[in-house]
Amino acid sequence: MSWESETSELELVAKAFQVISREISYQGLAKALLAEALSYSGATRGAILLSGQRDMLAKADASFPRERANFLASFPQSAQFGLPEDLAEEVLGRKGTVVRVVGPASSALIDATKPSSGKIAQLCLPLVHQNWAIGVIYLESDVDVGIFTPQCVRVISMLASQAAISFESVRLFEALRETNMWMVRGQQIGGMGSYRWNTRTLLSRGSRECYRILDLDLDVNPVPFEMFISRIHPKDYPALERALGEAISTKSPFAHEYRVIHRDGKSLHVVAVGQFDEGPTGDLELEGIITDISQRKAAEQALADARNELAHASGLTSLGELAGSIIHEIDQPLTGILTSAEACARWLDRDPAEAAEARKSIARIIRQARRTADVVTGVRSLVRGAQVRFAEFDINEAVAEVLLLSKREVERAGVVVRTDFDRTAPRLEADRVQIQQVALNLVRNAIEAMTEVGDGNRILTISSWTADDMISVAIADTGTGVDPADRDRVFETLYTTKGAGLGLGLSICRKIVRLHGGKLWVEENGRCGAKFTFSLPRRQAVRGARIQ
Ligand code: ADP
Repeated sequence: MSWESETSELELVAKAFQVISREISYQGLAKALLAEALSYSGATRGAILLSGQRDMLAKADASFPRERANFLASFPQSAQFGLPEDLAEEVLGRKGTVVRVVGPASSALIDATKPSSGKIAQLCLPLVHQNWAIGVIYLESDVDVGIFTPQCVRVISMLASQAAISFESVRLFEALRETNMWMVRGQQIGGMGSYRWNTRTLLSRGSRECYRILDLDLDVNPVPFEMFISRIHPKDYPALERALGEAISTKSPFAHEYRVIHRDGKSLHVVAVGQFDEGPTGDLELEGIITDISQRKAAEQALADARNELAHASGLTSLGELAGSIIHEIDQPLTGILTSAEACARWLDRDPAEAAEARKSIARIIRQARRTADVVTGVRSLVRGAQVRFAEFDINEAVAEVLLLSKREVERAGVVVRTDFDRTAPRLEADRVQIQQVALNLVRNAIEAMTEVGDGNRILTISSWTADDMISVAIADTGTGVDPADRDRVFETLYTTKGAGLGLGLSICRKIVRLHGGKLWVEENGRCGAKFTFSLPRRQAVRGARIQ
């Protein structure tokens, strides 16, 4: 062979190498290898097989693990492939190369277009990678039985060994892609994204699910800190910043819950956990997982709602409701007493006086008065019997529960609620239900006081704070307000300015607060409205008190 033809042959092989190496799928690679082998050798037909074919496995199952690729490319495409036994034995069993001329019956390709007479030349060799036969190349010619020269076989062998490396890369790539796909799917199902945040550059990278949770565009990579911050609920950001700062300074594991607001206004509850390590550049990096817990939160909320409804039904009857039912019980006998007394007076006014009838009326009066007295005694024993149960609880939580309970009333009245709770979540020793009754009564009064106020101006502000071992809660409204002259009177029993009012709520509230050693008072709320504040000692000196 001349120097020139050798050069052009090398070029051809180099080009074929390039074509094969570019492929990243089994199919593409098998097709490219077959096309190059056919075009180089000038063979009429051929096939590339990667594992999987049952008859081949049966012959050489040790060197053909089933989990390896399973792909056949053939030319003509419709041909069926089945290696004759002796070929399989030699090529797959002994990893040898076979070049031979045989009769048409020994062809590995069963194809309708194939001539049924004459000799065929066959070239068959294995694709070997690290001593494993991972596939087979089969070429045949019925035109020129001398085409598989030693040089041709050498070049095809070179192509085969290059292809074997590429097949292995594809296998690894596929395995990687599959693992990655599992991870992506797993993250999607679990609503869980992974992230890595560089604490020096403040840039972060994240998985697809992380991008979905934080509503980030996929082409933004890495993610600037400002963009991340812009998705955090403004109210949750200060706490998140503090938690991050603390975790960075101590390099301790990080865990924090916050809300994420998407660009379309959708809000998610998330929990982020992570730990610090040194990144590839030596910077301190936080690596972790962010999980969408919105569904869990919704379920918890539903549970809390249900619990509150139950608490309301069983114990947290508003004072007004309680007073209303007492009055209803007393009202009837009182009316009866009045009617009987008037009748009695009429019998006595007669001339002569009807003493017997008057006596009957008096008997009725006594009966009804007794009934009234019974009701009063019953109620008194009911209230007296209510032993005050002091226990420690979080005042913010207790008040928040009351707000939840009043949610529907608040919404119906078009009231905007603002809270400004003491951040230390102060704990109070008191009777939780009674303190909640006080708060509930003050909230309801505030809502009622704002009915006459224009839309958009009904604001209910609830705040809590601690000072000198006292915990205070203020309930402020933008309603009609309390005239300075009436600031004491509103706490008097039966004082009311409402048509259907009973004038009992505030007086009972004050009793409960005093029973806890605290104070309840009212003042102006800025320019308009009233602010009711109750202040309670954190700890109770005397236990077991009763409402008198
Ligand atoms: P009731 O609500 O049945 O009238 P209360 O003892 O709770 O009984 O209240 C007594 C009175 O105090 C009310 O009728 C009202 O005039 C006044 N009051 C209570 N809360 C407020 C408030 N937030 N703003 C203005 N007035 C109030």
